[in-house]
Formats: sequence, C-alpha cells, structure tokens
Amino acid sequence: MSPYLFNIFVDELLVELNRTSSAVPRSIFYADDGALLASSAEEMQCLLDVVVAWCNRQRMTLNVGKCGYLAPPQSEDVIFLADQAVPRVLEYSYLGFPLTCFGIDFDKHITRRIDQACARTAFLSVHSDRWGPAHRLRVYRQFLAPIMEYGAPLTAAYAERKPQFWAVYEDAINGLVAWISGYDSRIGVTRNVLGLYPLRDRFAALKSGFQVIIRYCPDASPLKTLSGVDCGIRSFYKDFTNDSLFHEFLLSQTDVPILQSGLKRALHTFLRRRQSLILSLDAYRRKLTRLIPFDTRLKHGLRGADRILHAPRLYQKSFLQYRRGTFATSLKCICSSELLFHRRHEACFRLEFGRWLSNKEESARNRAQILLGPGILLTDIDYLLNTGQFDRAYEILQHITRTLAKANSRALS
Ligand SMILES: [Zn+2]
Repeated sequence: MSPYLFNIFVDELLVELNRTSSAVPRSIFYADDGALLASSAEEMQCLLDVVVAWCNRQRMTLNVGKCGYLAPPQSEDVIFLADQAVPRVLEYSYLGFPLTCFGIDFDKHITRRIDQACARTAFLSVHSDRWGPAHRLRVYRQFLAPIMEYGAPLTAAYAERKPQFWAVYEDAINGLVAWISGYDSRIGVTRNVLGLYPLRDRFAALKSGFQVIIRYCPDASPLKTLSGVDCGIRSFYKDFTNDSLFHEFLLSQTDVPILQSGLKRALHTFLRRRQSLILSLDAYRRKLTRLIPFDTRLKHGLRGADRILHAPRLYQKSFLQYRRGTFATSLKCICSSELLFHRRHEACFRLEFGRWLSNKEESARNRAQILLGPGILLTDIDYLLNTGQFDRAYEILQHITRTLAKANSRALS
C-alpha cells in the first residue's frame, strides 16, 4: 500500500521533470527509487534543482550519500544537490542492475546474480545435507532460479547477438547442479535427469513471456514510446521487442486470443511444449538419459525431472547414482579381482540374487530394449525405475552394495 500511496504523492514531481521529455523520459521512478537522465551536466543540474525545490515545498529531505552520478569518463563536471556535491561513481546499482555511464553491465549483472544464488546454497548447505535431491531441486526452482533470472528478458535481449555470452554462465550453473544432486561430475547427464534446461533457452522463454506485457501496455508507456526513439538504444529495443519465439507462437495459433490472460495462457502452453522438446532432444543425445522414457518424467511440481525424484528420500541418492552410471563403481566385483563393478554387471552370477524380473516383466523390458536400439542396454534396474517400482529397485541396489562391500573389505584384510 505505501509504495502505491507514494506513487500518487510523487506523481506531480515526475510530471514536472518530464515536461520537456521526448520519447525517453527524463526521469523514471520506482516508488521512491528514482533515476534522472540528461544529455549534459547543465541539463542534469536543472533537473536536480527541480527536485530540490519540490522536496523543499513538500518538506522532504534527500539523502545525498545514497545518490550517485554517472558521467562519461572525460567529463569533469560536478553537480550539486542543494549545496552538496553528488558523489561521482563508476557504477550504480539501480533496481538490481549495475549501471555504468555506458548502460547496464549485463556481464556483471548475471555474474552477480549467479554468485548470489550460489552463496545461498553455501548458507543452506549446513541444513540441506539431509534434504535429498528432490527437495533441493524444489528449493532451486522456487528460490534460487528466480535470483538468477531477475531481469531475464533484458539479459536475453542483450545476449541475442552474443551467443558466446551463455557459455561462461553454464559453467557457473554447474555449481548449483552439484549442490542439488550432491555430485560434481557428469553434470550434463545430471542436469537432464533433474529436468533443467540450458540457461539460454530458459532466458529466451522468459523474454517471450514478457512480450505479452509489451503488447498490452498503454501507448503512453515508455515501453511503447521507446520504439520511436532515434538513438543508441534503438537496436537494443528492437532485439527486446522483436522476439522470434513470440512470432513463432503467434503463427502457430489458429485464433490468437484477444484478452491478455488468454494470450498468456496460450503462450505458456506453447513455451512448455517447446521446453519439453528441448529436454527430450538433449536426453536423446546422451546414452544414459535416452534410457528414461520421456512420458514417464514428472508432469507436476518437478516437471521434466526423472520420476526417481518421487521415490522416498532414502532411495534418491542411490537411484541418482545409478542413473548417472556411477553406482558402486569404486568397488570390485567378486567374480574377478580386477573387475570394478559397473552398470550392466548386476546380472553377474556371483552376486547370487537370482532373477530380478518375472517372465512378463522380462518381455516388457525386451520390447523396450528393441525400441531403444542396440547402442545402450536397458537393465533390469532401469526397467524397475522406469515403471516406478522403487522398493524392488532399492532392494537390488542394497544387495549389490552389501555383497560387494563385504567382499571388498575381505580382500583388504
Ligand atoms: Zn561380477
């Protein structure tokens, strides 16, 4: 309520400041967080004098210490707020974006955002050890991803002409994936099992979602009037509002919804389908993730993630290891003093478990194997995981670890 009331209160000042503005407003305010834009120091001083006069009339005081003045490097001008010089800064953080005299520093912005999200995991790690991957993934999606994705439509527009922009940050994200899964190797497989998209695709979707807001904002909004501006930001504005994915969506609709809510819903469905496609193509490229049938992935909550994340928390760690192909790989099998255990070796006769699957299940597994083709083996455990038979799968994995651990400790002594 109070920011809203303040908007009404401060409106008069903005009208006065923007009286001479063309398409680009001279001043923009987000409640009491304001920025003034001018093309010279003299012009800036005039705007500041207007602010000071208004504040005096309203009995408001300004905190000069919190202000910052950005100017081109060669400028030696000093500007004053009443009789105090405004501190000259190289960078000023406005509404969460680092601004320099050349505009938003996007590289710094995204680095900071990812660092913030990673720092949060360091803070959580004491408490999160016992959460299990599914719960950590929930925390990531609910709280950590929004930290990184702040201002995503702008960042995506900036990166549109710089595809290399994302490469650096994909690496940084891997720290978060390691926190969720508990592992820092085979990150590509792990990300896919967790149902996480590449950063670039995620940001592109958020930018397309923002097109709905631009489409419906009133003609007087700076978001619209900027299209008529003839200056340096024009090409950026074009990248920001000419969204190929959004056009693709409009073309895919037989009837484009007229109401904002309808358009939003339809776009949401379109983007969701597209992201599923990206994830399934990525899953197909890797042998281990190709084993997870896409239609068995989670549909609600942890959408896109392997269904093993719905297994009891106690099982999740072993299942994730098995999916990543790293389950018990540091242990030697009993059948040979040389052979390390690996995926597909569950059937070893020395493990003495008998048969895992019934005849009916065996033929279902065989049918699934034929569909997969020869490159990769769908094991009995994969079959059980894919069909959600978590207790049975866990029993087998437990049996393997117990048997191998016993044999390995005997070998050591
Ligand atoms: Zn063996």
